[in-house]
Amino acid sequence: MPTLAIFGSTGSIGCQALEFVRVSDVDYDVRVLTAWTNVEALASQAEEFQPEVVVLGTMDAARRYRMRRQGGTERVLVGDEGLEEAAAWPGLDTVLSAVVGAAGLRLTLCAARLGRRVALANKESLVVAGDIVTAAAAASGAEIIPVDSEHSAIFQCLAGASTREVDRLVLTASGGPFLGRTREELAYVGVDDAMDHPNWTMGAKITVDSATLMNKGLEVIEAHWLFGIAPERIQVVVHPQSIVHSMVEFVDGSTLAQLGPPDMRLPIQYALDYPVRNGSSWPRMDWTQRHSLSFQSPDVRTFPCLRLAYAALETGPSATAVLNAANEVAVEAFLDGRMAFNAIPDVNERILDRMGGDEAHSLEDRLQLDEEARLRTKELIGKAGN
Ligand code: MG
Repeated sequence: MPTLAIFGSTGSIGCQALEFVRVSDVDYDVRVLTAWTNVEALASQAEEFQPEVVVLGTMDAARRYRMRRQGGTERVLVGDEGLEEAAAWPGLDTVLSAVVGAAGLRLTLCAARLGRRVALANKESLVVAGDIVTAAAAASGAEIIPVDSEHSAIFQCLAGASTREVDRLVLTASGGPFLGRTREELAYVGVDDAMDHPNWTMGAKITVDSATLMNKGLEVIEAHWLFGIAPERIQVVVHPQSIVHSMVEFVDGSTLAQLGPPDMRLPIQYALDYPVRNGSSWPRMDWTQRHSLSFQSPDVRTFPCLRLAYAALETGPSATAVLNAANEVAVEAFLDGRMAFNAIPDVNERILDRMGGDEAHSLEDRLQLDEEARLRTKELIGKAGN
Protein backbone atom coordinates (compact mmCIF):
# COMPACT_ATOMS: atom_id res chain seq x y z
CA MET A 1 0.00 0.00 0.00
CA PRO A 2 1.61 3.34 -1.00
CA THR A 3 2.08 5.71 1.94
CA LEU A 4 1.31 9.42 1.97
CA ALA A 5 1.98 12.40 4.19
CA ILE A 6 -0.38 15.33 3.70
CA PHE A 7 1.10 18.52 5.08
CA GLY A 8 -1.50 21.27 5.32
CA SER A 9 -4.37 18.78 5.28
CA THR A 10 -7.02 21.26 6.45
CA GLY A 11 -6.20 23.81 3.73
CA SER A 12 -7.72 23.95 0.26
CA ILE A 13 -5.16 21.66 -1.47
CA GLY A 14 -4.98 19.30 1.52
CA CYS A 15 -8.76 18.86 1.69
CA GLN A 16 -8.93 18.18 -2.05
CA ALA A 17 -6.09 15.65 -1.71
CA LEU A 18 -8.05 13.79 0.98
CA GLU A 19 -11.16 13.99 -1.20
CA PHE A 20 -9.08 12.22 -3.86
CA VAL A 21 -7.73 9.62 -1.41
CA ARG A 22 -11.32 8.74 -0.39
CA VAL A 23 -12.36 7.84 -3.95
CA SER A 24 -9.00 6.76 -5.38
CA ASP A 25 -8.58 3.40 -7.15
CA VAL A 26 -5.30 3.13 -5.25
CA ASP A 27 -5.61 2.32 -1.55
CA TYR A 28 -3.39 5.00 0.02
CA ASP A 29 -2.18 4.73 3.59
CA VAL A 30 -2.20 8.29 5.00
CA ARG A 31 0.40 8.38 7.77
CA VAL A 32 0.78 12.11 8.40
CA LEU A 33 -1.80 14.91 8.62
CA THR A 34 -1.06 18.47 9.73
CA ALA A 35 -2.89 21.71 10.47
CA TRP A 36 -1.94 25.09 11.86
CA THR A 37 -4.70 25.66 14.45
CA ASN A 38 -7.80 24.09 12.88
CA VAL A 39 -8.15 21.44 15.61
CA GLU A 40 -11.72 20.40 14.78
CA ALA A 41 -11.02 19.71 11.11
CA LEU A 42 -7.76 17.87 11.83
CA ALA A 43 -9.39 15.72 14.52
CA SER A 44 -12.16 14.60 12.22
CA GLN A 45 -9.63 13.87 9.43
CA ALA A 46 -7.58 11.81 11.90
CA GLU A 47 -10.67 9.89 12.95
CA GLU A 48 -11.34 9.02 9.31
CA PHE A 49 -7.79 8.34 8.04
CA GLN A 50 -6.08 7.04 11.22
CA PRO A 51 -2.63 8.62 10.65
CA GLU A 52 0.42 7.63 12.72
CA VAL A 53 1.31 11.24 13.43
CA VAL A 54 -0.31 14.68 13.31
CA VAL A 55 1.35 18.08 13.61
CA LEU A 56 -0.22 21.29 14.89
CA GLY A 57 1.18 24.81 14.63
CA THR A 58 1.01 25.83 18.30
CA MET A 59 1.23 24.25 21.75
CA ASP A 60 -2.25 25.48 22.54
CA ALA A 61 -3.70 23.85 19.41
CA ALA A 62 -1.89 20.59 20.24
CA ARG A 63 -3.35 20.63 23.77
CA ARG A 64 -6.86 21.21 22.43
CA TYR A 65 -6.31 18.43 19.86
CA ARG A 66 -5.33 15.91 22.55
CA MET A 67 -8.47 16.78 24.53
CA ARG A 68 -10.60 16.32 21.45
CA ARG A 69 -8.99 12.97 20.46
CA GLN A 70 -8.59 11.27 23.81
CA GLY A 71 -8.78 7.72 22.40
CA GLY A 72 -6.44 8.49 19.46
CA THR A 73 -3.20 6.53 19.13
CA GLU A 74 -1.44 8.99 16.79
CA ARG A 75 1.62 10.93 17.92
CA VAL A 76 0.98 14.67 18.28
CA LEU A 77 3.87 16.93 17.28
CA VAL A 78 4.13 20.74 17.32
CA GLY A 79 5.56 23.56 15.20
CA ASP A 80 8.40 23.68 12.66
CA GLU A 81 10.34 20.95 14.43
CA GLY A 82 7.28 18.74 14.46
CA LEU A 83 6.83 19.28 10.72
CA GLU A 84 10.44 18.27 10.05
CA GLU A 85 10.14 15.20 12.26
CA ALA A 86 6.98 14.21 10.42
CA ALA A 87 8.62 14.79 7.00
CA ALA A 88 11.29 12.30 8.10
CA TRP A 89 8.68 9.81 9.40
CA PRO A 90 9.67 6.24 8.48
CA GLY A 91 8.20 4.56 5.42
CA LEU A 92 6.75 7.58 3.59
CA ASP A 93 6.62 7.23 -0.20
CA THR A 94 5.15 10.62 -1.06
CA VAL A 95 5.05 13.88 0.85
CA LEU A 96 2.45 16.44 -0.23
CA SER A 97 3.83 19.83 0.76
CA ALA A 98 0.80 22.10 0.94
CA VAL A 99 1.64 24.13 4.04
CA VAL A 100 1.73 27.87 3.29
CA GLY A 101 4.85 29.91 4.00
CA ALA A 102 8.39 29.30 5.24
CA ALA A 103 7.30 26.26 7.32
CA GLY A 104 6.34 24.57 4.04
CA LEU A 105 9.76 25.38 2.61
CA ARG A 106 11.53 23.76 5.56
CA LEU A 107 9.58 20.53 5.33
CA THR A 108 9.94 20.37 1.53
CA LEU A 109 13.69 20.68 1.94
CA CYS A 110 13.73 18.03 4.66
CA ALA A 111 11.80 15.55 2.48
CA ALA A 112 13.93 16.38 -0.57
CA ARG A 113 17.15 15.78 1.38
CA LEU A 114 15.84 12.35 2.39
CA GLY A 115 15.18 11.45 -1.25
CA ARG A 116 11.42 11.32 -0.85
CA ARG A 117 9.00 12.05 -3.64
CA VAL A 118 7.61 15.52 -3.02
CA ALA A 119 4.25 16.55 -4.45
CA LEU A 120 4.86 20.27 -4.29
CA ALA A 121 2.12 22.83 -3.66
CA ASN A 122 4.08 25.20 -1.39
CA LYS A 123 5.18 28.27 -3.38
CA GLU A 124 7.93 29.43 -1.06
CA SER A 125 9.95 26.26 -1.66
CA LEU A 126 10.98 27.38 -5.14
CA VAL A 127 10.36 31.14 -4.99
CA VAL A 128 12.42 31.68 -1.84
CA ALA A 129 14.90 28.81 -2.15
CA GLY A 130 14.64 27.23 -5.61
CA ASP A 131 18.42 26.88 -5.81
CA ILE A 132 18.68 25.18 -2.40
CA VAL A 133 15.69 22.85 -2.83
CA THR A 134 16.60 21.70 -6.36
CA ALA A 135 20.24 21.11 -5.32
CA ALA A 136 19.06 18.98 -2.37
CA ALA A 137 16.73 16.98 -4.61
CA ALA A 138 19.46 16.45 -7.21
CA ALA A 139 21.88 15.24 -4.51
CA SER A 140 19.43 12.74 -2.99
CA GLY A 141 17.60 11.75 -6.17
CA ALA A 142 14.27 13.03 -4.81
CA GLU A 143 11.60 13.67 -7.42
CA ILE A 144 9.65 16.91 -7.21
CA ILE A 145 6.23 16.58 -8.80
CA PRO A 146 4.38 19.89 -9.17
CA VAL A 147 0.76 20.20 -7.99
CA ASP A 148 0.00 23.67 -9.36
CA SER A 149 -2.14 23.28 -12.49
CA GLU A 150 0.27 25.12 -14.83
CA HIS A 151 3.37 23.26 -13.70
CA SER A 152 1.53 19.96 -13.71
CA ALA A 153 0.54 20.68 -17.32
CA ILE A 154 4.16 21.37 -18.31
CA PHE A 155 5.36 18.33 -16.38
CA GLN A 156 2.82 16.18 -18.23
CA CYS A 157 3.76 17.66 -21.64
CA LEU A 158 7.46 17.08 -20.92
CA ALA A 159 7.06 13.38 -20.06
CA GLY A 160 9.96 11.58 -21.70
CA ALA A 161 11.53 14.71 -23.22
CA SER A 162 14.96 16.13 -22.42
CA THR A 163 15.60 19.81 -21.67
CA ARG A 164 17.54 20.33 -24.91
CA GLU A 165 14.45 19.36 -26.91
CA VAL A 166 12.48 22.21 -25.34
CA ASP A 167 12.33 25.55 -27.11
CA ARG A 168 10.07 27.30 -24.61
CA LEU A 169 7.52 26.83 -21.91
CA VAL A 170 4.24 28.69 -22.36
CA LEU A 171 2.49 29.37 -19.06
CA THR A 172 -1.15 30.31 -19.40
CA ALA A 173 -2.75 32.96 -17.20
CA SER A 174 -6.49 33.55 -16.85
CA GLY A 175 -5.77 37.28 -16.66
CA GLY A 176 -7.78 37.52 -13.42
CA PRO A 177 -10.77 39.77 -12.75
CA PHE A 178 -9.12 42.89 -14.21
CA LEU A 179 -8.27 41.57 -17.64
CA GLY A 180 -8.66 44.31 -20.26
CA ARG A 181 -8.59 47.18 -17.76
CA THR A 182 -5.99 49.95 -17.80
CA ARG A 183 -3.82 50.94 -14.85
CA GLU A 184 -5.83 54.16 -14.50
CA GLU A 185 -9.05 52.15 -14.25
CA LEU A 186 -7.60 50.11 -11.41
CA ALA A 187 -6.81 53.13 -9.22
CA TYR A 188 -9.90 52.73 -7.04
CA VAL A 189 -10.68 49.01 -7.17
CA GLY A 190 -11.38 47.43 -3.79
CA VAL A 191 -10.86 44.08 -2.14
CA ASP A 192 -14.24 42.72 -3.30
CA ASP A 193 -13.40 43.50 -6.94
CA ALA A 194 -10.03 41.75 -6.68
CA MET A 195 -11.58 38.70 -5.00
CA ASP A 196 -13.96 38.10 -7.87
CA HIS A 197 -11.88 35.58 -9.84
CA PRO A 198 -13.61 34.33 -13.01
CA ASN A 199 -12.48 30.64 -13.05
CA TRP A 200 -10.84 29.46 -9.83
CA THR A 201 -11.93 29.57 -6.20
CA MET A 202 -8.84 30.08 -4.04
CA GLY A 203 -7.59 31.74 -0.86
CA ALA A 204 -7.50 35.55 -0.49
CA LYS A 205 -3.74 36.01 -0.98
CA ILE A 206 -3.49 33.97 -4.18
CA THR A 207 -6.66 35.56 -5.57
CA VAL A 208 -5.13 39.03 -5.19
CA ASP A 209 -1.90 37.67 -6.72
CA SER A 210 -3.95 36.50 -9.70
CA ALA A 211 -5.45 39.97 -10.06
CA THR A 212 -2.00 41.66 -10.05
CA LEU A 213 -0.44 38.84 -12.19
CA MET A 214 2.13 38.35 -9.42
CA ASN A 215 0.88 34.79 -9.14
CA LYS A 216 1.94 34.19 -12.74
CA GLY A 217 5.27 35.87 -12.03
CA LEU A 218 5.85 33.51 -9.10
CA GLU A 219 4.91 30.61 -11.37
CA VAL A 220 7.54 31.70 -13.92
CA ILE A 221 10.13 31.55 -11.13
CA GLU A 222 8.90 28.10 -10.05
CA ALA A 223 8.92 26.84 -13.65
CA HIS A 224 12.53 27.96 -14.04
CA TRP A 225 13.62 25.84 -11.06
CA LEU A 226 11.35 22.87 -11.73
CA PHE A 227 12.29 22.43 -15.37
CA GLY A 228 15.74 24.03 -15.63
CA ILE A 229 14.65 26.40 -18.42
CA ALA A 230 16.13 29.92 -18.73
CA PRO A 231 13.75 32.83 -17.94
CA GLU A 232 13.84 34.18 -21.51
CA ARG A 233 12.46 30.85 -22.71
CA ILE A 234 9.47 30.98 -20.37
CA GLN A 235 6.58 32.89 -21.89
CA VAL A 236 3.32 33.94 -20.30
CA VAL A 237 0.15 34.18 -22.38
CA VAL A 238 -3.29 35.23 -21.22
CA HIS A 239 -5.89 32.54 -21.84
CA PRO A 240 -9.13 33.64 -20.16
CA GLN A 241 -10.94 30.28 -20.43
CA SER A 242 -8.40 28.41 -18.19
CA ILE A 243 -8.82 25.20 -20.21
CA VAL A 244 -5.29 24.98 -21.63
CA HIS A 245 -3.32 24.74 -18.37
CA SER A 246 0.05 25.37 -20.06
CA MET A 247 2.10 24.29 -23.07
CA VAL A 248 5.56 23.23 -24.15
CA GLU A 249 6.96 24.22 -27.51
CA PHE A 250 9.71 21.88 -28.68
CA VAL A 251 12.72 22.71 -30.86
CA ASP A 252 11.07 21.18 -33.94
CA GLY A 253 8.19 23.68 -33.63
CA SER A 254 5.66 21.21 -32.25
CA THR A 255 3.61 22.39 -29.26
CA LEU A 256 2.04 20.07 -26.69
CA ALA A 257 -0.65 21.33 -24.34
CA GLN A 258 -2.55 19.82 -21.43
CA LEU A 259 -6.25 20.65 -21.25
CA GLY A 260 -9.06 20.08 -18.79
CA PRO A 261 -11.73 21.85 -16.76
CA PRO A 262 -10.27 24.18 -14.11
CA ASP A 263 -10.30 21.72 -11.19
CA MET A 264 -7.33 21.20 -8.85
CA ARG A 265 -8.23 17.60 -8.06
CA LEU A 266 -6.83 16.44 -11.40
CA PRO A 267 -3.27 17.81 -10.91
CA ILE A 268 -3.38 16.62 -7.29
CA GLN A 269 -4.27 13.11 -8.42
CA TYR A 270 -1.60 13.22 -11.13
CA ALA A 271 1.10 14.19 -8.59
CA LEU A 272 0.08 11.50 -6.08
CA ASP A 273 -0.49 8.67 -8.59
CA TYR A 274 2.59 9.57 -10.69
CA PRO A 275 3.93 7.94 -12.85
CA VAL A 276 0.67 6.03 -13.40
CA ARG A 277 -2.65 7.46 -14.55
CA ASN A 278 -5.70 5.97 -12.87
CA GLY A 279 -9.41 6.47 -13.44
CA SER A 280 -11.27 9.39 -11.88
CA SER A 281 -14.75 10.82 -11.70
CA TRP A 282 -13.75 14.52 -11.85
CA PRO A 283 -15.59 16.76 -14.33
CA ARG A 284 -14.56 16.25 -17.97
CA MET A 285 -14.51 18.49 -21.02
CA ASP A 286 -17.39 17.96 -23.38
CA TRP A 287 -15.71 18.47 -26.75
CA THR A 288 -18.99 18.17 -28.63
CA GLN A 289 -19.94 21.57 -27.16
CA ARG A 290 -18.75 24.71 -28.87
CA HIS A 291 -15.61 26.06 -27.14
CA SER A 292 -13.42 28.97 -28.02
CA LEU A 293 -9.86 29.13 -26.75
CA SER A 294 -8.24 32.55 -27.02
CA PHE A 295 -4.70 33.69 -26.31
CA GLN A 296 -3.16 37.15 -25.99
CA SER A 297 -0.10 38.93 -24.57
CA PRO A 298 -0.21 40.03 -20.93
CA ASP A 299 -0.39 43.80 -20.33
CA VAL A 300 2.71 44.47 -18.23
CA ARG A 301 2.08 48.20 -18.08
CA THR A 302 -1.14 47.59 -16.15
CA PHE A 303 0.27 44.57 -14.30
CA PRO A 304 3.94 45.40 -13.59
CA CYS A 305 4.31 42.53 -11.07
CA LEU A 306 4.90 40.12 -13.93
CA ARG A 307 7.82 42.24 -15.21
CA LEU A 308 9.22 42.47 -11.66
CA ALA A 309 9.21 38.68 -11.30
CA TYR A 310 11.28 38.30 -14.47
CA ALA A 311 13.67 41.03 -13.29
CA ALA A 312 14.10 39.31 -9.91
CA LEU A 313 14.65 35.93 -11.53
CA GLU A 314 17.39 37.41 -13.74
CA THR A 315 19.06 38.84 -10.63
CA GLY A 316 19.00 35.59 -8.66
CA PRO A 317 17.28 33.53 -5.97
CA SER A 318 17.82 36.07 -3.19
CA ALA A 319 16.03 38.72 -5.27
CA THR A 320 13.03 36.46 -5.86
CA ALA A 321 12.86 35.86 -2.10
CA VAL A 322 12.86 39.63 -1.51
CA LEU A 323 10.14 40.21 -4.10
CA ASN A 324 7.97 37.46 -2.62
CA ALA A 325 8.35 38.86 0.91
CA ALA A 326 7.54 42.42 -0.19
CA ASN A 327 4.51 41.20 -2.11
CA GLU A 328 3.08 39.26 0.84
CA VAL A 329 3.25 42.35 3.04
CA ALA A 330 1.83 44.57 0.30
CA VAL A 331 -1.09 42.21 -0.42
CA GLU A 332 -1.88 42.03 3.30
CA ALA A 333 -1.99 45.84 3.45
CA PHE A 334 -4.32 45.89 0.43
CA LEU A 335 -6.60 43.24 1.96
CA ASP A 336 -6.72 45.27 5.20
CA GLY A 337 -7.79 48.32 3.23
CA ARG A 338 -4.60 50.21 4.11
CA MET A 339 -3.30 50.48 0.57
CA ALA A 340 -4.56 50.91 -3.01
CA PHE A 341 -4.41 48.06 -5.52
CA ASN A 342 -1.92 49.87 -7.78
CA ALA A 343 0.37 50.45 -4.81
CA ILE A 344 1.11 46.69 -4.64
CA PRO A 345 3.46 46.68 -7.66
CA ASP A 346 4.88 50.10 -6.70
CA VAL A 347 5.83 48.87 -3.22
CA ASN A 348 7.23 45.63 -4.63
CA GLU A 349 9.37 47.52 -7.13
CA ARG A 350 10.80 49.90 -4.52
CA ILE A 351 11.78 47.06 -2.19
CA LEU A 352 13.25 45.06 -5.06
CA ASP A 353 15.28 48.13 -6.14
CA ARG A 354 16.59 48.59 -2.61
CA MET A 355 17.24 45.00 -1.60
CA GLY A 356 17.34 42.95 -4.80
CA GLY A 357 21.14 43.03 -4.85
CA ASP A 358 21.53 41.53 -1.37
CA GLU A 359 22.67 37.93 -1.51
CA ALA A 360 21.99 35.14 0.97
CA HIS A 361 23.21 31.66 0.14
CA SER A 362 22.25 29.40 3.05
CA LEU A 363 18.66 28.67 4.01
CA GLU A 364 19.01 30.49 7.33
CA ASP A 365 20.51 33.59 5.68
CA ARG A 366 17.80 33.49 3.01
CA LEU A 367 15.04 33.37 5.62
CA GLN A 368 16.76 36.22 7.47
CA LEU A 369 16.74 38.27 4.25
CA ASP A 370 13.05 37.39 3.81
CA GLU A 371 12.37 38.67 7.33
CA GLU A 372 14.27 41.89 6.69
CA ALA A 373 12.46 42.49 3.40
CA ARG A 374 9.15 42.14 5.26
CA LEU A 375 10.24 44.70 7.87
CA ARG A 376 11.43 47.20 5.25
CA THR A 377 8.17 46.77 3.31
CA LYS A 378 6.10 47.39 6.44
CA GLU A 379 8.14 50.56 7.12
CA LEU A 380 7.64 51.77 3.57
CA ILE A 381 3.88 51.19 3.68
CA GLY A 382 3.66 52.75 7.16
CA LYS A 383 5.42 55.91 5.99
CA ALA A 384 3.25 56.26 2.91
CA GLY A 385 0.13 55.89 5.08
CA ASN A 386 1.10 58.74 7.43
MG1 MG B 1 -1.48 28.20 -10.88
